[in-house]
Amino acid sequence: MTYRSPIDDIRFVLDHVVPFTRIAETERYAEATPDMVEAILTEAAKLCDTVVAPVNINGDKVPARLENGVVRTSPGFAEAFRAIAEGGWIGVASPQEHGGMGLPQTVNMAINDMLSGACLALQLNPLLTQGHIEALEHHASDEIKALYIPKLVSGEWSGTMNLTEPQAGSDVGALRTKAEPKGDGTYAITGQKIFITWGDSDVVENISHLVLARLPGAAAGTKGISLFIVPKYLPDANGKPGKANSLKVVSLEHKLGIHGSPTCVMSYEGATGWLVGEENKGMAAMFTMMNNARLGVGMQGVGVAEAACQKAVEYAQERNQMGVIANHPDVRRMLATMRAEVFAARAIGLACAVATDMHTATGADDWAARAAFLTPIAKAYGTDVGCMVSETAVQVHGGMGYIEETGVAQYYRDVRITPIYEGTNGIQAMDLVGRKMMDGGEMAYRVLEEIEDDAEAARAVLPELAGDVWSAAETLREATEWMVAQDMAERFAGAAPFLRAFARVLGAHYHLRAAVAEGGEGPRSKLARVYIRRLLPMYAAHLAEARDGSDGVMSLSPDDLAS
Ligand SMILES: Cc1cc2nc3c(=O)[nH]c(=O)nc-3n(C[C@H](O)[C@H](O)[C@H](O)COP(=O)(O)OP(=O)(O)OC[C@H]3O[C@@H](n4cnc5c(N)ncnc54)[C@H](O)[C@@H]3O)c2cc1C
Repeated sequence: MTYRSPIDDIRFVLDHVVPFTRIAETERYAEATPDMVEAILTEAAKLCDTVVAPVNINGDKVPARLENGVVRTSPGFAEAFRAIAEGGWIGVASPQEHGGMGLPQTVNMAINDMLSGACLALQLNPLLTQGHIEALEHHASDEIKALYIPKLVSGEWSGTMNLTEPQAGSDVGALRTKAEPKGDGTYAITGQKIFITWGDSDVVENISHLVLARLPGAAAGTKGISLFIVPKYLPDANGKPGKANSLKVVSLEHKLGIHGSPTCVMSYEGATGWLVGEENKGMAAMFTMMNNARLGVGMQGVGVAEAACQKAVEYAQERNQMGVIANHPDVRRMLATMRAEVFAARAIGLACAVATDMHTATGADDWAARAAFLTPIAKAYGTDVGCMVSETAVQVHGGMGYIEETGVAQYYRDVRITPIYEGTNGIQAMDLVGRKMMDGGEMAYRVLEEIEDDAEAARAVLPELAGDVWSAAETLREATEWMVAQDMAERFAGAAPFLRAFARVLGAHYHLRAAVAEGGEGPRSKLARVYIRRLLPMYAAHLAEARDGSDGVMSLSPDDLAS
């Protein structure tokens, strides 16, 4: 079976759960009417199902390879990439003045959900290019914007982000790449970057690298980092790719999954670059890109989970072992759990995107704070769901799941990177309980209030489920009060389970909304029941772990743990 874009589910979430209508009511996005969004999503779905999904397996079987210093991509990837570019899908949310569609991020994220389900390894290219464009929009000079953004939007060029170095992973502040002013307004960039996604390819004519580097005499740590744009080919007077820049791909990594996505070790050898934004403010500029990419990676988890879930449901209806396996309660449990998790993660991701758009459209700080608060949850939960669901999908297939020919194992391997890159899920959790709660938990309380108000209103239709959601929100409020009263060491020891608990309660909230919108009867209400009765209760265990503090785990030394 091939992948089918989950357009009905996405439409339902947009119409009834997050909801998208408030975006279309703003002046900025007045053109994004329901009809227009439906037409766009339908068109994108067609591309995903008929052009992108069929090449997914090629990426796995015939990985990208390095040939004489140039990356050769998997069969069919170049054609599928061109189709994505020519459809205008890279610039869905980019400004119209630069050739984009100027649509809300929410629409873009819904399309990213579908593109990731179709082919994660390929989708990474437009995803990173989109983040790259956004960083330039906010921080680059007008000349750089005019030169680069139209080429990136059209897909003639693609964009990368270069943070990681061997000694600088989560600790980006440890990076050593240097930038020396050349006296003519440009800089010579020297250093090695590792793990650079789509650092080179044969699907575009030029590649624009955003590189974090340190100017002479810059402070240590993140305060001394600046951002540079470093093209593979230096644009000539007409903006066409000219002389080759002094940079190269040293090697490609061999990976557990996403074999179709070239992961490059890059060497910059006095390469010519231009400063983006202010000196020593590179981290702030890069964060523009990373926030977009974090939500995008959360949606990658959702997309792959969707694809794996579809495969499992289909297989379970065909396989006969003492009857069709889909009819065995344990298998039905797995299928229902998968579908319920996918729904919750999709709703959280799209709710985060709605908050981003509402901030863009209204400028209101509350929306910005809400988007910032939801981003680590959307990233970590979306990608955890990607892993959990694809793992369960393998289980549903039994031995055939472990055998490569069904294709389900590819989802399991491919999606495993998503909790790691764009800030590991551990770093996301620390961001949630640290930076995102610097307001004393105010935004968390506002979200919880909304959940409780909704649950109160839902009591008339679904009293039991509404009661469960209300109680969970109340307990989570107490745990949040506890969390903000702790020092950082205590908070961090419980950060990951706290994030999971928050995601569970949010997921239950959105399921409840879906059930109410359906009138309390029907498949969405049944799915909500599964989530709220069977999966929501995990929040209590997560909170018990979160509130245990640091003593328990830190009292065990690495030596204790070694044996
Ligand atoms: C396939 C792939 C593609 C990638 N693409 C890109 C790319 O395009 N551009 C780019 O710049 N990078 C990219 N990366 C790098 C990626 O973002 C990093 O791997 C990631 O940020 C984690 O860094 P690390 O691998 O050094 O792990 P480490 O930082 O060594 O982390 C190891 C473990 O320690 C934990 N940890 C680390 N520090 C702390 C802390 N302070 N507190 C608590 N826990 C901590 C982490 O959560 C993790 O569990 C990619 C990586 C891969 C594998």
